[in-house]
Amino acid sequence: MIPDDYKIVKICPQCGSPKINWINGGIGGPVYKCDDCNYVGAFILEVRLKDIQKFQREMRENRR
Ligand SMILES: [Zn+2]
Repeated sequence: MIPDDYKIVKICPQCGSPKINWINGGIGGPVYKCDDCNYVGAFILEVRLKDIQKFQREMRENRR
């Protein structure tokens, strides 16, 4: 079994939220939508569960 910390989760490239929904599999491939910031796009990030907070912190710092 893989520990939870090492599970790969999809997160939003804009806000780092893991609330990503797969909404469409069109010609261009899968499209995802973020529940938190309404980002829509084919590009999402895949990170380990234990790295989510690190990504979210970096995103907040980059926004300054
Ligand atoms: Zn988002």
